[in-house]
Amino acid sequence: MRFAVIGNPIAHSKSPEIHQAFAAQFGIELRYEKMLVERGQFSASMDDFFKTATGCNVTVPFKTDAFDYADRLSPAAQAAGAVNTLYKKAEGVFGDNTDGIGLVRDLQENLGLRLADARVLIVGAGGATRGVILPLLNAGVRSLTIANRTESKAEQLVGLFADTRLRACGFEALASESGFELIINATSASLTAEPLPLPDGVFACDGLAYDMVYGAKPTVFMQQADDRQMRVCDGLGMLIEQAAASFELWHQRRPQTAPVIEQLRAQLRKQL
Ligand code: NDP
Repeated sequence: MRFAVIGNPIAHSKSPEIHQAFAAQFGIELRYEKMLVERGQFSASMDDFFKTATGCNVTVPFKTDAFDYADRLSPAAQAAGAVNTLYKKAEGVFGDNTDGIGLVRDLQENLGLRLADARVLIVGAGGATRGVILPLLNAGVRSLTIANRTESKAEQLVGLFADTRLRACGFEALASESGFELIINATSASLTAEPLPLPDGVFACDGLAYDMVYGAKPTVFMQQADDRQMRVCDGLGMLIEQAAASFELWHQRRPQTAPVIEQLRAQLRKQL
């Protein structure tokens, strides 16, 4: 069976290693490669790829191209407006989005967080935020506030989901908020180590601050939250849980994620 992760750039991707670790748990032999595709070439590359392949993961900047490419879409992909997993079936190519379920499983199953009835703040209103809104709502959160530097983008996102638990705002409006049980950083600010202008009041000392970005060291956002006595975590578990959900779609078997999270965490520690 042949699989791949498609993106540009792609050299940094850990997906081949993650999928090989899952496959080893079941004695499955598979070929999983990294595929660098030029912008504008996604559809032609996929036509060629699926002549011999079963499925692929799709990453930046092709998640909306994959959405357009799929013949059928899961409800999660429809809500996200983006696809991170393609699966060639007899009746056509199926598109799913496992980022949201990956986040929810990491929060609930790995970190032991109770999402039901939680007050949640997401900072950022890009593709990653859109992909996690429906799974968080389905997990039963009490409220979901989306704060973005460009407020209009947060408003646009909230407008896509008819749910009274959702609220959009800019950063200034957070000054009147009290502590959230969960704050998710879904901005790309961590990649450039920029601190977010969040007022102290949003950090609840017994809550969890989760950065979707992961790395060898805590991000600036994680340091901000740690200074305010929040529990902090990065997005490595989300990465591995979204891969596990893709694996389950292709192989109808759910892999154990804890040993793979530990394996990749150990590699990150070695980079320090
Ligand atoms: P987008 O480019 O679609 O959105 C970026 C968001 O970040 C926008 O809301 C933007 O605000 C905001 N932003 C960027 N810089 C700043 C800043 N300096 N201050 C405040 N806000 C800022 O990115 P994605 O939504 O696709 O991804 C967001 C992050 O999530 C990425 O870092 C990505 O690596 C990570 N991610 C992790 C996953 C995982 O498995 N762990 C899965 C998917 C994503 P504005 O609208 O004002 O420009």
